[in-house]
Amino acid sequence: MLTILSLFGIFTFEDSTQQKRLFYFVIVQSAIASVVAFRRYLLKPNDPNVLKHSKDFSLIHGQENCINSMTKTVNEANDFIFTIGGRSRDEKYLNAISNRVKKGNVHHIRIITGNHILHDLCVHLRDLGKNADVAYITEERFGNLLVTHDTTIIALQDTKKTYIYSILMLRDAKVASDFRQYISEVFGQANKTVDNTLIESLCLSCRKNVLKE
Ligand SMILES: [Zn+2]
Repeated sequence: MLTILSLFGIFTFEDSTQQKRLFYFVIVQSAIASVVAFRRYLLKPNDPNVLKHSKDFSLIHGQENCINSMTKTVNEANDFIFTIGGRSRDEKYLNAISNRVKKGNVHHIRIITGNHILHDLCVHLRDLGKNADVAYITEERFGNLLVTHDTTIIALQDTKKTYIYSILMLRDAKVASDFRQYISEVFGQANKTVDNTLIESLCLSCRKNVLKE
């Protein structure tokens, strides 16, 4: 209705500045109406399968911001630190996991995926030793996740960056429980005989030395 009135206004006002203002007004309000309609279509708020909006949901960008959020989540973890993926490389984050695991009262699962890891992760994994349940699976289709007692962090894919640059963080105990179940099921399918030889054969730095020997 506003659009019709505004269009009518364009043809009745003689002042060109007023016409321009009205024209921009029409464009902006049409764009807003389109976005609102599209969101309604996408979200379908009456559909019980659509998750309700939550205040405990964050989208975080930037390598440093991601590392800080992941490190904080690990430091605050109770009972569980379940991880899957092979992109971890930040010393601060990996040290936080090592320190938290060594403090005790936490079950740590790490599933390495893909055909290689970087040396920082290699050192971390060898340092963890028997304090963690480590498994390996070649396929990368399982995603990159960090899950604690109440927090799930999903690393978003990026074709240009091999390190983690964007994450979704959900603070919801039920969602975390579901994702821990998911990681446990992948763990069940993975190779659980991960020793230092396998870790070094995956490490881009160490495997050169392994090949030379
Ligand atoms: Zn290495």
